[in-house]
Amino acid sequence: MIQCSAVYKSYFLETREIPALRGVDLEINTHGFYAIMGHSGSGKSTLLHLLASLDRPDSGTITIAGKRVDTYTDKQATEFRRREIGIVFQQFNLIPTLTALENVELPALLASEDRRKKAMELLEQFGLSDRASHRPDSLSGGEQQRVAIARALLFSPPVLFADEPTGNLDSANSNRLWKLLAELAREKQMTVVMVTHEPAAAAYTDEVFVLADGRFKSSFRTENLDASGVAARYQECVRTA
Ligand code: ADP
Repeated sequence: MIQCSAVYKSYFLETREIPALRGVDLEINTHGFYAIMGHSGSGKSTLLHLLASLDRPDSGTITIAGKRVDTYTDKQATEFRRREIGIVFQQFNLIPTLTALENVELPALLASEDRRKKAMELLEQFGLSDRASHRPDSLSGGEQQRVAIARALLFSPPVLFADEPTGNLDSANSNRLWKLLAELAREKQMTVVMVTHEPAAAAYTDEVFVLADGRFKSSFRTENLDASGVAARYQECVRTA
């Protein structure tokens, strides 16, 4: 279970305060694929960064699987990110001089552990075994993002956070990636939380959480909804916000 209670976060540009989150209260169940949707500037990325312990809220509490991640020291947050969650971003953030296999192994190298076998298994699972020795510049965008997901899963974290993971991909690769994330949630019993503005992406998830103006508004289940059904429900949530 992921729980946020009265989460506030502002940015400061010189002396000007920019409130990004204005009291977010929400609960996301474990084991499933979830979308966070909202207009640009509604606070989606800020919330995901706080959930992933990349930043701390100004106030409020964030609990993930019973752990108060908002109170973590930098060292605890680093260890939490390394061991207990995976994170993928719109930019694939692969190291250009390393091969696909070496990029996936990287978290283990940093932790001085031999994980070549696991890294290779992940590449195989994602249909990339014949790309293992390629560097990122000889991989397509879709392949690079699959390598980034494989890297995020090296330590088998129970939770994966994804921030607009298909922002740089065409629609065929985007669909393949959403399917992959849905499979991870279903077959590996993971909790996958994805920030997206695309109804087509959210249609792959189990439930959509809608943010507006830095607050959680409401959520809806997506069973039997296609992309246009999700878009309509989303518009309803935002209109009544
Ligand atoms: P979203 O992901 O929904 O587009 P964000 O969480 O990125 O929303 O941003 C929420 C608000 O915080 C916006 O007004 C945005 O301009 C502002 N913001 C986000 N990051 C920063 C930053 N690093 N410095 C200043 N303002 C920021």
